[in-house]
Amino acid sequence: MSETADVVIIGGGITGASAAFQLASRGVRVILCEKNFLGAGSTGRSSAIIRQHYSNEITARMALYSLRVFQNFADVVGGDAGFVQTGFVIFVEAKDRAGLEENVAMQQHVGVNTRLMSANELRELDAHLVVPDKLAAAYEFEGGYADPASTTTSFANAAKARGAQIWQDARVTNVVVAHERVVGVETTRGFISTNTVVNCANAWAPQIGAWVNLDLPIRAERHQVATFGRPASSDRPRFVVADFAASLYYRPEGGQLTLAGSIDPAHGTLVNPDNFNQGADLEFIADCAERIQRRYPAMATAEARGGWSGIYGVTPDWHPIIDAAPHVAGFFVAAGFSGHGFKLGPAVGVMIADMVMNVSTPTAQLERTLFRYQRFAEGKPVQGKYEYSIAG
Ligand SMILES: Cc1cc2nc3c(=O)[nH]c(=O)nc-3n(C[C@H](O)[C@H](O)[C@H](O)COP(=O)(O)OP(=O)(O)OC[C@H]3O[C@@H](n4cnc5c(N)ncnc54)[C@H](O)[C@@H]3O)c2cc1C
Repeated sequence: MSETADVVIIGGGITGASAAFQLASRGVRVILCEKNFLGAGSTGRSSAIIRQHYSNEITARMALYSLRVFQNFADVVGGDAGFVQTGFVIFVEAKDRAGLEENVAMQQHVGVNTRLMSANELRELDAHLVVPDKLAAAYEFEGGYADPASTTTSFANAAKARGAQIWQDARVTNVVVAHERVVGVETTRGFISTNTVVNCANAWAPQIGAWVNLDLPIRAERHQVATFGRPASSDRPRFVVADFAASLYYRPEGGQLTLAGSIDPAHGTLVNPDNFNQGADLEFIADCAERIQRRYPAMATAEARGGWSGIYGVTPDWHPIIDAAPHVAGFFVAAGFSGHGFKLGPAVGVMIADMVMNVSTPTAQLERTLFRYQRFAEGKPVQGKYEYSIAG
């Protein structure tokens, strides 16, 4: 016997789980299909840093909305997101000082609790930090990180409690279209009759788009993470740090470890998302160790504890596609979060629910315009306003 759903979501990462929660909360009958297990894609391997530092007002607002959800997760969603508020420091080269100042002013305007900080002020905040006077810096008081697996499971559980079905080990093998409208999906657990599909499959989204002749410009890139034990003499670093001068981010991981990754987009390598090296390279780990020491010399005696690799689903402008397919009624896409989609997950769930249910507020219209599919063909990609980061 086949199933019927109002909406089928393909992909059980943060995006799909958050969307399932929002749709089920509005009384929509949802089936989420995940070919593996919840969080098996990018989400489960994410560094899960939560910061509001964007140069685009719409994205900064999405990040701020999502932060409030992470901070109040048990009340708003239920369950645990593992959010730890550490504060977030961003360093940029002197040449990017004006851009940083402009961004921080915009972020303050949208309500982000952030401000520029001098080298002296940062040294007062943490005497172990080495801050050359030439670097410009800002501090975000409410930044931190979360547990991506818990967050996703909690969203899925909350969706389930509101009537959604969460199918794991259920691969979608085809989207069936009749007269230019979605009529169902074929899965390894049988056919689901539906008029609406949301493709939340990130790096796998192009495979799914191809079934309905939708060409999604999303490539799968391998990105690495290294971990280090903290030296006995120091409990640092305590903040989340994005050091654009050293092209490195890092954050505490629980009480004992520091986790680090590159913020240089060129560090990614194109791979098959179903078959790639999931470990971290020795050279990468050594390189991270050297770069952390530029700000935290005490880390010179930190023990390397290995690492892992995960996939970024990357679009040409490093921003997602959140839109309806132009030529197939009932087919929607929310994919290509390009290495910064975890923190936006709570807001994206709302955006997907609004899009699918055709809710049109001025904010929803602005968001849909920014992340529309056609922007690449039109030659109008999303442009970050600062030079120091592509994902901004
Ligand atoms: C190493 C690393 C560090 C990161 N650090 C950060 C960070 O600090 N902050 C931040 O905000 N973001 C970060 N990100 C990015 C963030 O994790 C991703 O943008 C986000 O998790 C994407 O979530 P998603 O649900 O869209 O995709 P995914 O989590 O990739 O989920 C897609 C799912 O679709 C499933 N799927 C694919 N095909 C099918 C099919 N045919 N049928 C059924 N299911 C299917 C896959 O199995 C997968 O589980 C990082 C990512 C990585 C890899």
